[in-house]
Amino acid sequence: MSRYSLVFTLLFSAILVLGLLTKFYLASRQIRHVAGHRNSVPTAFAARISLQAHQKAADYTVAKARFGLLETAFAAALLLGWTLLGGMDALNQALIHSGLAAHGSLVPQLALLAAFGVISGLLDLPFSLYSTFRIEERFGFNKMTFRLWLADLAKSALVGLAIGLPIVALILWLMGSAGSFWWLWAWGTWMGFNLLVLVLFPTVIAPLFNKFKPLEDEALKARVTALMQRCGFAAKGLFVMDGSKRSAHANAYFTGFGAAKRVVFYDTLLKQLSPGEVDAVLAHELGHFKHKHILKRIISMFAMSLAGFALLGWLSSQAWFYTGMGVKPNLSEANDALALLLFLLVVPLFSFFISPVFARFSRKHEFEADAYAVSQTNGKDLQSALLKLYQDNASTLTPDPVFVKFYYSHPPAAERLGRMAHAVESAVP
Ligand SMILES: [Zn+2]
Repeated sequence: MSRYSLVFTLLFSAILVLGLLTKFYLASRQIRHVAGHRNSVPTAFAARISLQAHQKAADYTVAKARFGLLETAFAAALLLGWTLLGGMDALNQALIHSGLAAHGSLVPQLALLAAFGVISGLLDLPFSLYSTFRIEERFGFNKMTFRLWLADLAKSALVGLAIGLPIVALILWLMGSAGSFWWLWAWGTWMGFNLLVLVLFPTVIAPLFNKFKPLEDEALKARVTALMQRCGFAAKGLFVMDGSKRSAHANAYFTGFGAAKRVVFYDTLLKQLSPGEVDAVLAHELGHFKHKHILKRIISMFAMSLAGFALLGWLSSQAWFYTGMGVKPNLSEANDALALLLFLLVVPLFSFFISPVFARFSRKHEFEADAYAVSQTNGKDLQSALLKLYQDNASTLTPDPVFVKFYYSHPPAAERLGRMAHAVESAVP
């Protein structure tokens, strides 16, 4: 074992332990904070949220945080199993000696990725089952039957295979044959693939899982169309999705690009909100477009992937990168799938510590979208819509502030409504 390898093992172990400790610390803060505020509705909401709803939100939040801890602990153990305890090495060696190599270098590499994918997928199943049929079920959110759950699983595995296999094969091929700047080519390919998925998702992929019907409510349609015209926004269509098939959680979103953009409302959202409130929620989404948040997100994703591929390009040729994580590399032969897998395993350990930066940007964007919605529609509607959504989704009104900094992509209700109340009041002469 070289000195670099030992240093990398130590760094890898240290960051794994540090991440684990941080996640446990944050979750225990959140659990303590939410449980501590369980018995009284915050004053600002006392008139509008019942104690019963507040306590349901607290219990749901705590149940999810506890379960998250179990998942975190399991993921860390699994990561150790794959790396320092030799799981990945055993799998890799078994495939190298399996005779698959007779079919060229790509076949055993794809087999390694597929085997890893299948094993990880299977190990994840109990968590997905428990989360859907225990936690979501207990709080009345789950609407899925076991049959639908199985059908979803089969469909996503097939879709993953159909679109994942070609792109992975292409990237492995580039890694093997495009010279020392392969990572630049691979990056370009990966970006093209991402854009293609953005285009295909609304029209090809999402309809495999849900039904999309054009919005039929004429009054709402007229109202929403007027709002979009007022905001200078063209979309290909307004659709209603049967979200209630799986869950009682409500949402609305935009998908697609350019002229192919469409607005999708969950049927659960239309059931819970008044037309004015739907308008306000849509105006919030339009705010994300007006402020170019989607574009900014895509650009930052492009930039980070470029850095990632460049880093992978360098790491994949360093022996210590493999041996430091308990795997014997095969540097004289095709080794790229192994490099890719180890990279994907190790990167989240480091990126977890910069996640608060991204969460912060995201919360800032939410405030901007809220402000836009208040300027374009009735601010009171947005306030009542948000309050309904927070309540119907059992989102806690009293999250731990430090937990929020790390994990919340949306600001807590109190902050959002506080800012909005201020904006609404100052708009009244
Ligand atoms: Zn938003």
